[in-house]
Amino acid sequence: MSQEDEFKRTIVYADSALGYIKTNSLPAFPRNYELWYSYASGFNRSLNRTINKILARDGKISPIETQKIYNRFLSPNRLGERIDEVGDKISQEVRELISALDKGALQTTEYADELTRTLGALESINDPAQLSKLVVHLAKLTTETAESNQELREQLIDSRQQIGVLQEGLEAIRYESLTDELTTLNNRKHFDQSLIRAVNEAEESNDSLSLLISDIDHFKQFNDNYGHQTGDQVLRLVALAVQQNVKNSDIACRYGGEEFGIILPRTTIEDAEVIAEKIRKNVVAKELVKRSTGENLGRITISIGISTFRPGDSAESMVSRADLALYAAKKAGRNLVKSEEERKVPSVTQVA
Ligand code: GH3
Ligand code: MG
Ligand code: MG
Repeated sequence: MSQEDEFKRTIVYADSALGYIKTNSLPAFPRNYELWYSYASGFNRSLNRTINKILARDGKISPIETQKIYNRFLSPNRLGERIDEVGDKISQEVRELISALDKGALQTTEYADELTRTLGALESINDPAQLSKLVVHLAKLTTETAESNQELREQLIDSRQQIGVLQEGLEAIRYESLTDELTTLNNRKHFDQSLIRAVNEAEESNDSLSLLISDIDHFKQFNDNYGHQTGDQVLRLVALAVQQNVKNSDIACRYGGEEFGIILPRTTIEDAEVIAEKIRKNVVAKELVKRSTGENLGRITISIGISTFRPGDSAESMVSRADLALYAAKKAGRNLVKSEEERKVPSVTQVA
């Protein structure tokens, strides 16, 4: 998108944001502005859904409700808070577990000591009445210890369950922190981490590694024509085309707004080209029909740039060569796959 387009688009969002603040008589604090700017851009679907529900119900939204929505969807601490919460619960559970185990261990030691003492005393007893008293004492001690062991067992089972629930919570948080909500592909954070790992592995193993970066062609125009919500459906469709053409070991990510990054470990550039072509063809083959109205929206196309690992590469250098190849695909007319190698060939020819 040109800088001027970007400028116009952001001004439209900014105007709408201020409009929403005024109509709802909210203070124009930076947080409120951020919230309504996000709403106007429509990129955070859950946030829009939540606000729309309140507006449909009450026709207006209160400062307290906006604060809650901000905390839920935009506060940078949202995931952090949940992690802290789960972390606190785990610490508490572990503390209780340790204290229960300590108590159990102490009781078992006391029981063993008492048993030794009683057995020692047994040798010097001749009187049957005294003997029977001792046996009763031992039986009582054994019952008490068995009871407290049972209690400990129950507590351990309970803790095991609690920890299982907390573990699921942690996994959900981890999944959420690495997943793109709209497309359910991996998010940018996952992409960055995975590419660094993949580059290191390729460096160590001498295996091949390729990277695809795709970008939807003229997507701004599509959004302008049919609206952001429909645009979002298209993003889902492209994500599906990507997902359907990669293996489990490949890492498909939503790299930016309408850009996807696909890391292909142990894949040569030739194989990467085949995969990229499949994705491109899959997207263009789909005729888009608006579900709500049945309106035919034509087709969309994507361009893809490919880079492949070279010794000494970093994640950044691979991304930057894939980006250059993508740019070349756009320049050559879009709806195309371009490899970095194709870019290399002319310069080699010139040198020769
Ligand atoms: P080009 O063929 O050169 O890529 O043209 P383009 O219009 O697609 O240009 P560019 O890639 O720079 O534009 C990105 C546009 O993608 C801007 C915005 O309208 C749209 N976009 C980015 N993220 C989202 C999103 O999450 N949802 C929707 N609906 N649109 C998005
Ligand atoms: Mg783009
Ligand atoms: Mg684009």
